[in-house]
Amino acid sequence: MSVRLRVAPSPTGDPHVGTAYVSLFDLAFVRQQGGAFVLRIEDTDRARYREDSEQQIYDMLHWLGLEWDEGPDRGGPFAPYRQSERLDTYRPHVDRLLAAGHAYHCWCTPERLAEMRAEQQKAKRPTGYDRLCHGKSRDERALLPGFSERPVVRMLIPDDPPLRFDDLIRGEVNAPRPDDQVILKADGFPTYHLAVVVDDHLMQITHVVRGEEWISSTPKHLLLYDWLGWERPKFAHMPLLRERDKSKISKRKNPAARLTWFAEEGYLPEALVNFLGLMGYSLPDGREVFGFDDMVASFDWSRVNAVGPVFDLDKLGWLNGHYIRELPVAELAERIVAYLGVAGAQADAVRAATPLVQERMQVLREAREMLGFLLVDDVVVEEAAAVKFLGAEQRPVVVAALGALSAVDDWRAPAIEAALRAALVDELGFKPKHAFGPVRVAVTGRTVSPPLFESMELLGRELSLRRLESAL
Ligand code: GLU
Repeated sequence: MSVRLRVAPSPTGDPHVGTAYVSLFDLAFVRQQGGAFVLRIEDTDRARYREDSEQQIYDMLHWLGLEWDEGPDRGGPFAPYRQSERLDTYRPHVDRLLAAGHAYHCWCTPERLAEMRAEQQKAKRPTGYDRLCHGKSRDERALLPGFSERPVVRMLIPDDPPLRFDDLIRGEVNAPRPDDQVILKADGFPTYHLAVVVDDHLMQITHVVRGEEWISSTPKHLLLYDWLGWERPKFAHMPLLRERDKSKISKRKNPAARLTWFAEEGYLPEALVNFLGLMGYSLPDGREVFGFDDMVASFDWSRVNAVGPVFDLDKLGWLNGHYIRELPVAELAERIVAYLGVAGAQADAVRAATPLVQERMQVLREAREMLGFLLVDDVVVEEAAAVKFLGAEQRPVVVAALGALSAVDDWRAPAIEAALRAALVDELGFKPKHAFGPVRVAVTGRTVSPPLFESMELLGRELSLRRLESAL
């Protein structure tokens, strides 16, 4: 039988890095086994819904090359793949559960539930719904305080719910006992717990792969499968990506929890895929640099480490630098051009300068800093660099450099270098560092730049001389 896996993000803002993480592992397994990878949009939480989030999810997964076979934008045999378009699908299952006594209406107002919870906490009792509504008709319940006209539907968790299950990554898991979970909200929308089970069943999902934070929900899902008479899928709960302090990586605390951040910073998608793969997966030969195809070839759930990996951005930076250096220079140039969003003469300048920066970059963002001097007519000198290198003391250096360079006709790096060395080092006796520092700052505006003489060649005679003049 071929496998069917899904990723089921909720469009509640900038996509979380966990969506890519789960997709990568889903896909590695699907491509190895043969089967389908489904993208389902879980948009039943209308309060947290964000309009542009769904498009961002598509964009980021495309960017990473993690392509789905079925989804809202692509269709497929089990369409629609957006839960808000499947509302009619859920209701009959709720009615079945009500009729069988596995679920009941609850008319408690949010205020009453809050009071109940506060009292439980005060008395140091376990919190959970006290079943005030269970076994009562609407009219009976209406006589009691804290009544709302619009009921929700809750699961009636039995005394001995199934709490143990087999996890492909963790082996036998023992989850905590659940509360009488709401499955249908007062607005008629299903909650996640009902919708996920109904959709995973109807979409014939064979393996449910999701973050570790869902382990405590799994017993509710097991009950729903059992009550509805459906076969349970296999489960794999991925380790949470963690901060250095071991807390869960969150969009509030860490920009790197947002997928768009990686594109903005100029990480290469292949480096991020490798990095996410390394978070919990290891190749049999222990290699750290690997691609999606390597994962597919060796994929085995037992190779996934259940312990939450620390999201180490230094490692990602190292990997990204590696992938940047591995790219053919012409391709790197096009990536930088696209990243900077430049065209025409500016793009040509970037292409010409790419060989100068390939060895020096960890992320494409640095190209903006390192090559910015080529993309403007007049450079803005960084304040700290000006103070350090363009003070009164260094004036003679700049004067001499300008004089020597004015006499250079063959404007190429070797001639530029020879002229500057002769004038500044040989004649005036400056150490190379003191000789070239001021020139670098005058010409590029920064203390760190691509190699100086090549940079000046690319910038051209006229602009180079003009910048030395304005430094004076
Ligand atoms: N909508 C859930 C989420 O965004 C999906 C969890 C699951 O995969 O079951 O995390």
